[in-house]
Amino acid sequence: MKRALILDLDNTIYPVSSIAGHLFERLFSLLDEYAEDINYEALIHAKDELTRRPYHLVADKYNFSNELKNKGIGLLKELTYDFPMQPFDEYHYIKSIPLPKFLVTTGFSKLQRSKVKMLGIENDFQEIHIVDPEISKQTKKDVFADIMERHGYYAGDVLVIGDDPESEIKSANELGIDTFLFDPENIHSSVQSTYKTSRLKDVTDRLS
Ligand SMILES: [Mg+2]
Repeated sequence: MKRALILDLDNTIYPVSSIAGHLFERLFSLLDEYAEDINYEALIHAKDELTRRPYHLVADKYNFSNELKNKGIGLLKELTYDFPMQPFDEYHYIKSIPLPKFLVTTGFSKLQRSKVKMLGIENDFQEIHIVDPEISKQTKKDVFADIMERHGYYAGDVLVIGDDPESEIKSANELGIDTFLFDPENIHSSVQSTYKTSRLKDVTDRLS
């Protein structure tokens, strides 16, 4: 029987696409200024990935110049999202599960905090951890291990719920924690996760 849930935020609790317009407007126009350095195809992919993955990872993958990388970081560090936000429709099934919940999200602290606030989900979680690569070397795996140690959870007690195979799913796999890969568009066919589904609601059947 599971004793705790660890959740990711972006694309797990709400769809980033719902805020992408406002959120990425300035960042994308910055990228466009550097379009000559990147190449058109890569630019399109980079923009798409930025809506799903942390900036520094995408910047490295697409070889952003140091100048572009730093400008982007400078912009994102100060960015907040201050418009109303809605969780996924099925988030309420997770919210109503009577287990302690921990939110562990990677990104820029100010921005992630503003999203939590606009979603109105602070009180759904016992703890909220923002893994901010600009501030600390701590990883999601470190945070998961720390939560387990402080609360006396074994790996089998916990379920990690997220959408990113390279992030929370990988970290949880490495710690032997069961994983629930939320894959609404069915884009991850060969990913190693304990459970994979397009319905967030299915978490309620995966707690034993
Ligand atoms: Mg995510």
